[in-house]
Amino acid sequence: MNLEQLKRIVGENGWLGESDDLSAYVTEWRGSWHGATPLVLLPASTAEVSAILKHCHAERIAVVPQGGNTGLCGGAVPDESGQQVVVSLRRMNRIRSVSPDNFSLVAEAGCILANLQAAASQVGRLFPLSLAAEGSCQIGGNLSTNAGGVNVLRYGTAREQVLGLEVVLADGSVIDGLRELRKDTAGYDLKQLFIGAEGTLGIITAASLRLFPEVTGVGTALLAVDSAPQAVRLLAELRRSLGDQLQAFELISAPAMELVSRHIADTRNPLDDGPPWFVLLETASGDDGAMLEQELMRATGAGLLSDAVLAKSEAERQALWRIRHAVSEAQKHEGASLKHDVSVPVGAIGDFIDAASRAVSNYCPGARVIAFGHVGDGNVHFNVSQPPDWPAERFIALRADMADLVYREVAKFAGSFSAEHGVGVLKREALLRYRSPVEVELMRRLKAALDPHNIMNPGKVL
Ligand code: FAD
Ligand code: ZN
Repeated sequence: MNLEQLKRIVGENGWLGESDDLSAYVTEWRGSWHGATPLVLLPASTAEVSAILKHCHAERIAVVPQGGNTGLCGGAVPDESGQQVVVSLRRMNRIRSVSPDNFSLVAEAGCILANLQAAASQVGRLFPLSLAAEGSCQIGGNLSTNAGGVNVLRYGTAREQVLGLEVVLADGSVIDGLRELRKDTAGYDLKQLFIGAEGTLGIITAASLRLFPEVTGVGTALLAVDSAPQAVRLLAELRRSLGDQLQAFELISAPAMELVSRHIADTRNPLDDGPPWFVLLETASGDDGAMLEQELMRATGAGLLSDAVLAKSEAERQALWRIRHAVSEAQKHEGASLKHDVSVPVGAIGDFIDAASRAVSNYCPGARVIAFGHVGDGNVHFNVSQPPDWPAERFIALRADMADLVYREVAKFAGSFSAEHGVGVLKREALLRYRSPVEVELMRRLKAALDPHNIMNPGKVL
């Protein structure tokens, strides 16, 4: 593999080689995958990305696009062969333009999500995509995984935020699709192909994105409910009465809450530990939560919740969100866990959690289900912690069988084995098993048409 030409394309400051510390580029965020690479390219422009792919296409060099490397499926790191080149977008981090009147902005793919939110906020607009990794993940990675997060209920996933894309194809040609239009029915909507493609069809170099009016008067509450189906009924009732003002509705099981209280400093459950489920919800009604308070009183009267606490200040609001965001961290203190990012129709969430929990305890008595997630989107993070008295390796060895058991339950409820984190290398077999042969074959044909030499992130997704 001749790498000198690639180094010349990006110039002296545009690459890292084997004498540099490349560990951050070849190790997945949770440490589950370690790969190897002879070269990390750090292009600074679309023209450089184009020249890189043109060369790799001609020389059949495999390319792994990388954003913030916070993905949880092993998609952003090279394999162990040492034959794959990493293309990190981190130097392409400019906001190219902001158009407050058009409620849009154009950002380069390497723009950190939190910086993009701040650029929108500076002109009194909102970019609603929000997730716990927002200080590190990049918009290019968010689009390539079709990320979800905590505001999907009101604004949709990353896909819904996109007006146009600039994409470099495997052969180096550039789709200059940065249109900022709400309406555009001119032929196939090509940008959709690259959203959620996890770098297997091309490299996203920039995006024009939809902005929204800034939210005022946020109301945040933590509620106690008796069951997951009851949480779903409460959600339906609040959506009916609050409509679009309801922007987040997150479910936390009692075991998840208990782990957070036990392990994470500065987090405390302000409600009794008694109830089996908690809901963290947020509204934007322009009245600092007065309407939310009234609706919650009504819902209490209707028997839809048993207890509630409303945040009275921004500090209290942050404290409630810290509980939700700390669940994964808290789980680390309980040894190994097997994680399943799945979705089912919203109305089926309660029944799915019950059925899957029963299947888990039949299969592995002593294993503890830590379920939480974005109920408003039907998205459950169905995590399972090891039995306390087991060695971690014994539990981790169950990974494939446990995943299959959970995905089978998901399939019974017509759900998806991959809700918001993507497929990467983690769920490739599941894709083959749980998507129909017709769909898989069409994905293969698209891949072959766009990337005939299979240089774009090979071994991922398909
Ligand atoms: P990376 O991890 O670098 O890459 C992800 C995939 O996209 C890889 O396949 C990579 O090859 C490809 N890729 C990256 N950039 C490009 C590009 N410019 N062009 C083409 N392909 C590209 N996800 C959610 O959806 N919701 C959550 O609530 C959420 N919470 C999280 C919380 C934490 C603490 C962490 C660590 C992760 C969380 N994630 C969540 C997962 C992760 O943050 C998202 O998947 C995120 O969108 C990944 O962005 P990234 O820039 O880190 O992408
Ligand atoms: Zn999530």
